[in-house]
Amino acid sequence: MTMQAYFFDMDGTLFDSMPHHAQAWDEVTRRHGLSFTPQECYREEGRTGIDILQEIFRREQEKGNPTEIDTLGPDEQLAHIRAVYQEKSARFKELGPIMPVKGAYELLQYLHALPGTQIWIVTGSAQQSLFRQLDDAFPGIFTRERMITADDVRHGKPSPEPYLIAWQRTGLPKSDCCVIENAPLGVRSAKAAGLFTYAVNTGNLPVSALQQEGADCVVGNMAQLLQIISKTHTL
Ligand code: CA
Repeated sequence: MTMQAYFFDMDGTLFDSMPHHAQAWDEVTRRHGLSFTPQECYREEGRTGIDILQEIFRREQEKGNPTEIDTLGPDEQLAHIRAVYQEKSARFKELGPIMPVKGAYELLQYLHALPGTQIWIVTGSAQQSLFRQLDDAFPGIFTRERMITADDVRHGKPSPEPYLIAWQRTGLPKSDCCVIENAPLGVRSAKAAGLFTYAVNTGNLPVSALQQEGADCVVGNMAQLLQIISKTHTL
């Protein structure tokens, strides 16, 4: 099983960004009379920010609680939700630099050195500074052409759409493509797309949370993953 294309999730897989995401969501949702706890943030990780906010507003409305969008028309509601998401993104940036996940660069360098191997980013994030951030942390690995972001999809993870788009762009059969994810919903998206999926448990989820979504291989860190993947390329 030698793969020719590797699809990397970004948050929690390449960058240790989840603590900042959790804090930014918590602060900004409170500011708007909503609630999205750090625990929920970890569980829902992988959805686009707009999807998450629509769900949070819907939840409050179902509970019968008044929200800021109740009296707005559909277009204005979406505009408001986008504005709240902008606030969350701005707060996330204020929280400071994000460190790469330990061992991620070593794995990427290993794959990059294999002739003909494609390395992709498939992320629910829409951060405009994404590419620069990736190139700073992992110089020489990624190209703008091989990135699927929130701007490229209609439905974010856990829909299979982001991974299906990446797969279609590779020009390869599905059996030559695989995914590296850290979150249950990301694994669900990848498996729904019909792709072999490695799960790296970089957070504090139980391993079962990743296995239950169908991950083909669950490891505890990037060094383990490099060991496993390098064996598949030397057989
Ligand atoms: Ca992730």
